[in-house]
Amino acid sequence: MRQRPAARDPAAAHPRWVTVRAPRLRNGAGGPDDDGVTTAVVPGLLCLAVVGPVLWVLWRRQARLAAALRTSRAQFTALVRSSPDPVVLLDDALHVTYASPAVADLLGLDPAELTGLPLAHAVHPEDRRVLLPALRNRAGDQGELAVRTARVRTGDGGWRLVQATVRDLRADPEVGALVLSCADLTADREGPDAELLELALTDPVTGLPNRSALVHRLAAVQRQGPARATALVLLSVDGAAAAGTTVLRAVTSRLARELRGEDWLARGTDGDFVVLVDGGLADAEVVAARLVATLGRLATPAGRLTASAGVTGLGADVDPAEALRRADLALRSARAAGPGSVHRADDALRSAAGRRSALSTDLAGALARDELRLVFQPVVDVVLDRAVTVEALLRWRHPELGDVSPQEFVPLAEESPLITELSRWVLREACATVAGLPGEQLAVAVNVSARHVGSGELVADVVAALGASGLPASRLVVELTESMLLDGHVAGELETLRGLGVRIAVDDFGTGWSSLAYLAGMPVDLLKMDQHFLADVEHDPQRRALCRGVLQLGTSLGLPVVVEGVTTHGQLALLREMGHRYLQGYAFARPLEAGQLADGGWRTAVAAGLAVGTP
Ligand code: C2E
Ligand code: MG
Ligand code: MG
Repeated sequence: MRQRPAARDPAAAHPRWVTVRAPRLRNGAGGPDDDGVTTAVVPGLLCLAVVGPVLWVLWRRQARLAAALRTSRAQFTALVRSSPDPVVLLDDALHVTYASPAVADLLGLDPAELTGLPLAHAVHPEDRRVLLPALRNRAGDQGELAVRTARVRTGDGGWRLVQATVRDLRADPEVGALVLSCADLTADREGPDAELLELALTDPVTGLPNRSALVHRLAAVQRQGPARATALVLLSVDGAAAAGTTVLRAVTSRLARELRGEDWLARGTDGDFVVLVDGGLADAEVVAARLVATLGRLATPAGRLTASAGVTGLGADVDPAEALRRADLALRSARAAGPGSVHRADDALRSAAGRRSALSTDLAGALARDELRLVFQPVVDVVLDRAVTVEALLRWRHPELGDVSPQEFVPLAEESPLITELSRWVLREACATVAGLPGEQLAVAVNVSARHVGSGELVADVVAALGASGLPASRLVVELTESMLLDGHVAGELETLRGLGVRIAVDDFGTGWSSLAYLAGMPVDLLKMDQHFLADVEHDPQRRALCRGVLQLGTSLGLPVVVEGVTTHGQLALLREMGHRYLQGYAFARPLEAGQLADGGWRTAVAAGLAVGTP
């Protein structure tokens, strides 16, 4: 192995200042043509007597410094040689002056063969463009770390993806080199991952692996299985992206300095930083807290930076996209808690704000991921002794949170145009399911949102759903709440729907601004009495009076009333006794899956309910 060139022996080569000669004296002041020997020699001797000891002292000091430098260089070389990480030293021309023994494992090459070679020979042509100029530029702050990633040729002619933490010590007399501490980022350590190597993997600003590289790395970690605990830190630095290249590089340098050997730093989306932490969730929290704290101490022209972080564990059951999503969720929760916060994904989910934010984000893709479905709850006519309608109710099974109630997620969907998309899907799905049922001609009731009604697209969507399913308009009920009816623009659309034969129901009747006066003029076909009227109805005479009152109101307006939320047999018997004809609730059937609805087994339960309170 060719060692880096030995340091010139400063003790052997006279330093420039040692060659300083005694001053030549001018004519008449000690020149050789002076006639008196004494006048020439005495001042010369005097001068020697004074300068000699000074020179000797200086020479001794220089010799000591040179010895110290030799020792220090020897220590540095020993340190580099013993480092388990492959270390490469480069001179100003980017030629290798030393490669540590660990380079042999990384590249399958004898490190000695590398010495003297230009770095460019080993780097993939596509990566040279960015890497070489970046290395050539002197670091502003001597010793600052930069991170560079590139494909490097191996002994067998393949490529490995190598990340180098670069410290510019060219101006340091003890080192005089660029020091590259290398790590192998290649996904599959058994052999180069062709797909990985073809990707543009490096973030040009920071030199870190970009998001594509990150996703590949996460997939590789997942493939490793549970043998090794790994966790993910997602770090957001407020204002760093806008602050520009210099600040981003300074941030990268700080982060790289704080990481431990096996931790892996990359760039995420939106200017975030990502660290794959070698360890469990608790380790990741410690790392995240350290990174957040170190950035808080970094002064920039725009002031001190602030950062927050989200952490999540990585397991064999979590795919890369999911892991990043969880980390993002934790990060959002941390950001909401304020600068300097570090949150775990599971904590974030437990907090109300975190859960809300997670649900809002996840709902956007829920339909595409097949997480939404409809269930159907029968509305029973106790006079005809059978179910006449089924109400379509939306269900969402969240991959982590399990079943989420529509009472929680529908209002979130209402906050964005997403609700119209969901509403449209519900209409189509509900009509198609019921149109396909064998046997008697059930109607289907569909809840529509205020936003859908206000979008002006409701009529077109209803027509499309009926057309696609073949369901007659008379078998569709559109449920709206009272507050929606107050919007003057809605009346026209509802009239159009009724003109088609669709029935309009006022849902949750009794919870809004119900008044005879406004109901009398509205295009409405039936009322659905809200379930709060049934609370304690069996024991509270006032509640019973209210239930009778709603029925009378409906009768006087010529509108049938459906009672929602009939849960117990006691309520069922009481309502029948009062003269209520249309009942819906667990007392007959819980909402049914589409398959259950089709197989008809539920009719037995409905018949059992119908037997209750029958005279
Ligand atoms: P809603 O339209 O008034 O639906 C009735 C709710 O009462 C349903 O809750 C139903 O499961 C529940 N329920 C039925 N029988 C009983 C009972 O005997 N006891 C009790 N305690 N509850 C009973 P769910 O499915 O959770 O729906 C809640 C609300 O979410 C719905 O109230 C509706 O406002 C909204 N929603 C559900 N699906 C959709 C949808 O597709 N679109 C829109 N815009 N809103 C929907
Ligand atoms: Mg409803
Ligand atoms: Mg209701």
